[in-house]
Amino acid sequence: MEYLNELNPVQREAVENINGASLVIAGAGSGKTRVLTYRIAHLLNQKIPAYSILALTFTNKAAREMKERIGNLVDQQQSQSLWMGTFHSIFSKILRYEAEHLGFDSNFTIYDTQDSRNLLRAIIREMQLDDKVYKANEVLNRISSAKNNLVTANAYAQNAGIQKIDSSNRRPLIFEIYKKYSQRCRQANAMDFDDLLLQTNILFKSKPEILAKYQNKFKYILVDEYQDTNYSQYLIVKKLAENHKNVCVVGDDAQSIYSFRGAKIENILNFKNDYPNYKLYKLEQNYRSTQNIVNAANSVIHKNRDQIKKVSFSENEEGEKIKVVKALTDHEEGYIVANAIYEERMREHLQYQDFAILYRTNAQSRIFEESLRKLNLPYKIYGGLSFYQRKEIKDLLSYFRMTVNPNDEEAIKRVINYPKRGIGDTTVSKLQDAATQNECSIWDVICGLNQRPYGINSGTISKLMKFAALITDFQKRQDTDTAIDLANYIAKATGIVQDLYNDRSPEGVSRHENIQELLNGIQEFTQNSLEEGNELQLDNYLEDVALLTDQDKDKDEDRNKVTLMTIHSAKGLEFSHLHIVGLEEDLFPSQMATSTQQELEEERRLFYVALTRAETKVTLSFAKSRYKWGNISYPRPSRFINEIDEKFMDLQYESEPDFSGAGNENFQSRTDSEIVSQPKRFEAKQSFSAKPKLNQPIIRNNINGSQANDPNFIPSNPEQIQSGMIVEHQRFGKGKVLQMEGSKPNIKATVFFQNVGQKQLLLKFAKLKIV
Ligand code: ATP
Ligand code: MG
Repeated sequence: MEYLNELNPVQREAVENINGASLVIAGAGSGKTRVLTYRIAHLLNQKIPAYSILALTFTNKAAREMKERIGNLVDQQQSQSLWMGTFHSIFSKILRYEAEHLGFDSNFTIYDTQDSRNLLRAIIREMQLDDKVYKANEVLNRISSAKNNLVTANAYAQNAGIQKIDSSNRRPLIFEIYKKYSQRCRQANAMDFDDLLLQTNILFKSKPEILAKYQNKFKYILVDEYQDTNYSQYLIVKKLAENHKNVCVVGDDAQSIYSFRGAKIENILNFKNDYPNYKLYKLEQNYRSTQNIVNAANSVIHKNRDQIKKVSFSENEEGEKIKVVKALTDHEEGYIVANAIYEERMREHLQYQDFAILYRTNAQSRIFEESLRKLNLPYKIYGGLSFYQRKEIKDLLSYFRMTVNPNDEEAIKRVINYPKRGIGDTTVSKLQDAATQNECSIWDVICGLNQRPYGINSGTISKLMKFAALITDFQKRQDTDTAIDLANYIAKATGIVQDLYNDRSPEGVSRHENIQELLNGIQEFTQNSLEEGNELQLDNYLEDVALLTDQDKDKDEDRNKVTLMTIHSAKGLEFSHLHIVGLEEDLFPSQMATSTQQELEEERRLFYVALTRAETKVTLSFAKSRYKWGNISYPRPSRFINEIDEKFMDLQYESEPDFSGAGNENFQSRTDSEIVSQPKRFEAKQSFSAKPKLNQPIIRNNINGSQANDPNFIPSNPEQIQSGMIVEHQRFGKGKVLQMEGSKPNIKATVFFQNVGQKQLLLKFAKLKIV
């Protein structure tokens, strides 16, 4: 029980009091996750069997790490048998056991967002609705939010029915789309992410004996990041804990950042109503960050009106103050941040993995990737268009999915004519119509074509039969082959590998490599499953892939790399040196989130989450100009920078950079000095005489006018630049000007760069420096 000494008195109490309901509510870095981990270790130590403990985490990676830690604290063997993972992965497992009670087969497919969107698009098209009014993405959000509030298609219809009287409002047809979507998922034996929770709720409600079984099984329930559970998740926990009430949830209302996905802060507030005899633990000491970081984060979050009052302090060293970097352009921001990481790592003898770059939206990553690549800094990037969403990967995965569940509509549509086998769109439409008419899957229709051809000619039927035979062959191998053997076999037998190999263009080569990478991953999966005594069939692999969260897509060889991710996916993580970038109005806070106080408060919580990921050092950055939708904009620094109490900010380099004169020679030195400049004061001095309306980016088309007094002025001095000159571009490096054309303000230069070849540049944006 030595492990108990690694806890402070309140943490220890929360760990030792294993019975009854416990709510741990505390600020970031105060050891909430640690309490959960140690509490589970303690339960095992008290001889509570591992299979009766259910622990719900934010990511599967967190669950893996927790298991490892618990294994080290108590018993490796036992920790492997814990029911620990995300809500989605735990309940999909349960749904597979219980699928028959819900009218699904246990081999159901889990549709990802792309599958759901494609299916919705198809339905909207089939219903002949205007896809500008019924945008698949929006409809999906509506359906998702309905599901997370346990509103089924039928219930939705009853609600929508009232509005339907108003024929001018076309939106209510969404319930019809929702209904069709649900039917089609069912015919395809597929569930989307939200279904995994909704169907669990339906199961527990409609089959009390099954609920009772799991109530008896899971005698102890623990939930991390409770502030971000939605109603559907809340209800699952509530039902499972109804009898024994041994439930321990930990959370921080100040870190609730998923309300757009239906997360309800009220779940924390309601805890006391559901469990009147609950015990409340407040952890106040932050062990993660320096005093300066904790105080800075507190000074920001205190500006939120809606919050549970709590104390958060650090006894770590006081630490460095928060630095702010002002960059002239978005590209310069990338350059400065990459350089800072390069230097800090050398100077402070750090590892790449000590650094993270956090941004508000995935789209911001590209520029940082480029800059890091230029300096040869290894990085890993989470989110965005993930590896598993790439076309070639989804194609091969779709064959795997067909193998496991041939009714999978989205999978069959992807591969029925890939690689090309002469089955056209018209045939697919006919198959789809027949399936809809008979309320069965496309696969069922294909299998019955010899009896009912649905107007499809015999030549095409024989092609379809060959396709069906291919899939059937894969299916037969399922029980005997390991995931990697079957995957290799499918990759070859379908002709996908050959097809990609034949394409020798750079894109083709890279697609071929991606397939190899996927197969390597399956090899690893098979190996790990073998070592850990888990099942190693293809369906087990597919389940794993379907349930990956952004944080989970991490590989061992990726360990020592700079991390790039959105703030949303950085939840729960910690990094020594942190760069929070793009701190500009309309980016962070997001343009979409400043119209109501609630929205703005959520953005502020997001900023709080970002700051509190750092252990030692935080650098904030913003750019004075940024490309947005192909236009250049001149955003103002984020209000959040000003919301940090000055005491915790670095004021050392307050001096305003010199913008007078030609400026180009100053470019480099200014960049350096601004790494640590202080925009708050700076902003005040500039005072934006003609104050732009808050939240409106200042768009200027002409920056070549007489703006010498304007500190925002980005000098490029096009008049000086002539053909034949050697110039330097921030990104492309040195090059020779071949030609100049056009007139102010749209003067264009054709430049030949040593590194990247010939480019045409609009001088007002290019900011060339004469060498
Ligand atoms: P977040 O709100 O960001 O999820 P958290 O409250 O879950 O944070 P943890 O991640 O559990 O906090 O802990 C933050 C850091 O502090 C971890 O590195 C953890 O190991 C360390 N820590 C927590 N409690 C203690 C303690 N009593 N002694 C030493 N280190 C601790
Ligand atoms: Mg945590």
